[in-house]
Amino acid sequence: MTAIALIVAAGRGARTKMDIPKQYLEIAGKSVLRRSVEAFLDHPGIDGVCVVINEGDRDLYEKSIGNLSLLPPVPGGAERQDSVRNGLENLAQSPPDVVLIHDAARPFVSAALICRCLDALSRAEAVLPALRMTDSLKVLDGDSITGAIDRDKIAAAQTPQCFTFSSILEAHRRFAGETLTDDTSLAEKAGMAVVMVEGETENFKITTAADVEKARQQITRTLADIRTGQGFDVHAFAENRELWLGGIKIPHDKGLKGHSDADVALHALTDALLGAIGAGDIGVHFPPSDARWKGVSSDLLLTHAAALIAEKGGMISHVDLTLICESPKISPYRDAMRNRIATLLDLSEDRVSIKGTTTEKLGFTGRGEGIAAQAIATVRLPE
Ligand code: MG
Repeated sequence: MTAIALIVAAGRGARTKMDIPKQYLEIAGKSVLRRSVEAFLDHPGIDGVCVVINEGDRDLYEKSIGNLSLLPPVPGGAERQDSVRNGLENLAQSPPDVVLIHDAARPFVSAALICRCLDALSRAEAVLPALRMTDSLKVLDGDSITGAIDRDKIAAAQTPQCFTFSSILEAHRRFAGETLTDDTSLAEKAGMAVVMVEGETENFKITTAADVEKARQQITRTLADIRTGQGFDVHAFAENRELWLGGIKIPHDKGLKGHSDADVALHALTDALLGAIGAGDIGVHFPPSDARWKGVSSDLLLTHAAALIAEKGGMISHVDLTLICESPKISPYRDAMRNRIATLLDLSEDRVSIKGTTTEKLGFTGRGEGIAAQAIATVRLPE
């Protein structure tokens, strides 16, 4: 049995009042869409993932997905139903046995829920994960209560909704002109048997700004393994070299000697990040003996360490850097360094701290022979 997940990400998400559609919002270091996609990519029962996108969001999509291996994205239509139909028609060129249609804005779909949906397909052509009601349900006329609804007869629909591919494609073609609320509504109308499996409260849809905050809390709750790493580095001054410090070029009469651009600040920071995840030191990842790293920007070293943290499903919480030298003065460049490091690590600037100090003319930094840097990084990993 081949199963493809079709992720619907073509909506504009006006209700969150964000400047980008909610599925592309980064929450705790990863976009909502990417979390949804990874839930299916990582599942052994799923053979491929295809995302339906708004043509205008292609850059956001590419940035969000990075190097994940997905089927090519499909342009959406005017309404959600048109987007799903476009996705299904595209998959029909090499039809799977089963399709799971999922809202991109539900990033917390669990592996267990995906299993329940796939298993239930042995009982019906269509499967709907839904939540039973625990509160009493009332009928309203304005703000007057006019009756009650038997809550045992009601459930709230979620996704992924799971179907025999040929049947749901046929239903979408047949009811193309009519607007129905979701894909199981089409399935019902087409006479397919639809069964319910238990949904999950965590599998909520991010719709409002309050939902974004709820999602952030739900993610950070799971990143409870808090690590601290420290790094230290020294480079000597040398003639006829540019001075790179904290990711920016600083006008100075000398530069720093080294194999790469010798950015002592980024090296200390890179070692702090590696230290937090127990991944050795900078020399393990970028041996000075390797000609590939000669003269390279230290941006590369820092972003490599950040990528290793992201691979572990972690996030950087904060970095704190101290530069030790008599000159140059750090304060005129602090904001530019902070901005550059925040950009490289994809952090807000309030999570990046830069400090400068001297050793009161004592020692090698005091004699102006070089610059030393110390860094501490706080990293959150999944437990
Ligand atoms: Mg170094």
